[in-house]
Amino acid sequence: MAKVENLSCSECAQLNCYRRNKKYPASCLTEAADDAVVNATVATYRGDSKDAQVARAAAEVEGLFYCEISRVEEIVSFAKRIKATRIGIASCLGLVEETKVFTKVLRAAGLQPYTVLCKVGSVDKTDIGIPDELKIQCGSFEACCNPILQAQLLNAQKTELNVIMGLCVGHDSLFAKHSEALVTTLVTKDRLTGHNPAVTLYTVKTYSKRILDPVHLKTL
Ligand code: SF4
Repeated sequence: MAKVENLSCSECAQLNCYRRNKKYPASCLTEAADDAVVNATVATYRGDSKDAQVARAAAEVEGLFYCEISRVEEIVSFAKRIKATRIGIASCLGLVEETKVFTKVLRAAGLQPYTVLCKVGSVDKTDIGIPDELKIQCGSFEACCNPILQAQLLNAQKTELNVIMGLCVGHDSLFAKHSEALVTTLVTKDRLTGHNPAVTLYTVKTYSKRILDPVHLKTL
């Protein structure tokens, strides 16, 4: 394995920042951080700003329900704590059935879901410069994902929290960039693993060992 030049937290064997029961490594981001910069973030979290409410709400959900509730339920709990009632959902076409279930959960919790599908606007992939041979079904009309329009339509609804339901890698980035409301993710799309990308990492020594093969990675 090549030597890592710019050491960061992923190369740390101590994780001392969590409980301070070990030692900081020679190259540590906590030790190197400017106290004034750290203190400014702490001041933000302690205050009354929206960011502060969000930070504390997220920590409360973790602390109250650690390992007791699912992410679906955590989103309900988090939305209530930040007083978000209008919940936008940016859904992938492939997850629309799961989105329908999620909207039932939100309504049962007294929240107001509003969903925009990734194919909204119905623009053919070739219209944005994607060659026909890259369609899933060549030669047919096939709408491109339109995450910017998804965000704009949710912005127009003045949603207070937007939830990503399985948007593609990169489309989720654009959605988050253009969303005016805070964004969280319920489903992270991974077609190969039933939307559980951690599986690939868990099985790196067996079924997924190709992900460390430079020859394979060169083909991606
Ligand atoms: S901040 Fe320091 S102690 Fe914490 S994970 Fe990073 S390098 Fe390790």
